[in-house]
Amino acid sequence: TPSVTQEFIAREDQWGAHNYRPLDLVIESAQGAWVTDVNGKRYLDCLSAYSAVNHGHAHPRILQTMIEQASRVTLTSRAFRNDQLGPFCEELATACGMEMVLPMNTGAEAVETAIKAARRWGYRTKGIPDGHATIIAFNGNFHGRTTTIVGFSSEPSYREGFGPFAPGFVLAPFGDIEAVRALMHRNVCAVLVEPIQCEAGVLIPPPGFLRALADLCREHEVLLIADEIQTGLGRTGAMFACDHEDVKPDMLVLGKALSGGFYPVSAVVSRRNVLDVFGPGSHGSTFGGNPLGCAVARTALRVLQDEHLAERSAALGAWFLQQVQALSHQDIVDVRGRGLLVGIELRGSARPWCEALMARGMLCKETHDHVIRLSPPLVVSKDDLIWAVQQLREVFTTA
Ligand code: PLP
Repeated sequence: TPSVTQEFIAREDQWGAHNYRPLDLVIESAQGAWVTDVNGKRYLDCLSAYSAVNHGHAHPRILQTMIEQASRVTLTSRAFRNDQLGPFCEELATACGMEMVLPMNTGAEAVETAIKAARRWGYRTKGIPDGHATIIAFNGNFHGRTTTIVGFSSEPSYREGFGPFAPGFVLAPFGDIEAVRALMHRNVCAVLVEPIQCEAGVLIPPPGFLRALADLCREHEVLLIADEIQTGLGRTGAMFACDHEDVKPDMLVLGKALSGGFYPVSAVVSRRNVLDVFGPGSHGSTFGGNPLGCAVARTALRVLQDEHLAERSAALGAWFLQQVQALSHQDIVDVRGRGLLVGIELRGSARPWCEALMARGMLCKETHDHVIRLSPPLVVSKDDLIWAVQQLREVFTTA
């Protein structure tokens, strides 16, 4: 590793907490699907900041909005109104076919918001006895890092040493509709699901699962909350991963690419009769709904539509998946994906493969230890993907 890189790593490791294990490159700049490190070496980004950079790095239109809005007004707090919030809520709700938006900043905050909304809705609308609202989630879930959220994770490393945890959550095996049916009870207010479990290793549920889940929820007067923070906004070849089964959840939870990766913007998008449970004082955020975030997100949404990024993801992703599935190596157990979200499941640790790809100029990251997730920006060119496939072929034959 070059000495400039070593120096940055040493400082980060001395002064920064060690809650991540990053690959050893230090990025200095980025444009489109490519990033450049402090030594001037270029890499194809096949992670996209966990799908936050779906629009590609430094998208010119979003950058322009960011600069213009930053020079106008960045933060008003919700003590006052700003001229970006209303248009943002209208445009996002319309794009989602919904009625109301509650803006936050990070994904975890939006999930927390959805949990609060679902519980209050459960008490006020469904008549669940106070303190008894239950939410069904799934084994292998990843919804963020707050204490409430890690409290219903099934992953020991997310939980260990962070209890006591909030009650009110039960887990079902992901993809098992009968297990969910068995957990249904009059105190259940919501089912919280990732349409594809990305962090768990790009796990795609059996066909018809989401549809059956939506039907089951309707039957039991239970809200379906889709966490589309990672799968939403074009990543899987549709605007939302739920669209693949024509499922319209009661609440959509969005984040990451909502701002094109420029700024933390998240939101819960839902119906009026759900989000109306919040009155003044019941929820809030200093930065949530700020004019800079709203302006950036408005342009990011428009870029997604104008550049047909979901359609691009579907077309390029179908080709890419086919190419990756054609790789043949004894350590490859399975290759699966939807749109430009592909997982390569390996027999052993995925880390050495990610390091070998990095040495060739291709960036991806292991998830759940034994899966390589490939999720390039949706603006990636076919030529770049052809090059990526070539790197994968060489790594998986020379080893
Ligand atoms: N939900 C899902 C499905 C995610 O993938 C993530 C982040 O990876 C989150 C929630 C949490 O988002 P954030 O890291 O912005 O809090």
